[in-house]
Amino acid sequence: MRLILLGPPGAGKGTQAARLVEKHGIPQLSTGDMLRSAVANGTDIGRKAKSIMDSGGLVSDDVVNQIVSERIDEPDAAKGFILDGFPRTVAQAEALTAMLADKGISLDAVIELKVVEDELVKRIEKRAAETAAAGGKVRADDNADSFRTRLEEYRNKTAPLSAYYERQGELKTVDGMADMDVVTAEIEKILQGVRV
Ligand code: AMP
Repeated sequence: MRLILLGPPGAGKGTQAARLVEKHGIPQLSTGDMLRSAVANGTDIGRKAKSIMDSGGLVSDDVVNQIVSERIDEPDAAKGFILDGFPRTVAQAEALTAMLADKGISLDAVIELKVVEDELVKRIEKRAAETAAAGGKVRADDNADSFRTRLEEYRNKTAPLSAYYERQGELKTVDGMADMDVVTAEIEKILQGVRV
């Protein structure tokens, strides 16, 4: 099963992806995680991406397209995967369509978590506070300024993807403001219809 989870930062994509990983045994391909690990490891990509990520901007399409393409080729993704945080621009979506066609595979569903934007800042603040309380490292971009930029980027560059996938007849939407377990159940309901 090959899925995309769409939705603004703080919509719950990461949480839902983690649950899907557990239930379906397919990996979560989070470009944010991949980039953060490149930053932590001080790779060339990481060095270039760090300041862009810290400010909440988007890393270049070429860079993320390449890391996703390579990641999809890894053996654990052969049975399927959940894309989280990619694609984020129409150019990335087009690149993904071409990339998958090239690899002879296709998507089974694109699921969008719809949320009320005003609530997102609160969620991000909560995530940062909980991570800090648990002794974890708070993300450099989980602060009010970067979050505003991330939301802007989402509105301008990522939100148009809903229309892109709607045109392709692949878009399904879920109320991301509902309780986490309800969101999980709704996603599972959608997957029943597309299970391969
Ligand atoms: P995320 O963990 O998905 O919130 O991503 C954190 C940051 O990584 C984003 O704010 C961007 O700077 C960068 N990033 C993650 N995915 C992408 C992508 N598909 N395209 C461009 N930048 C990305």
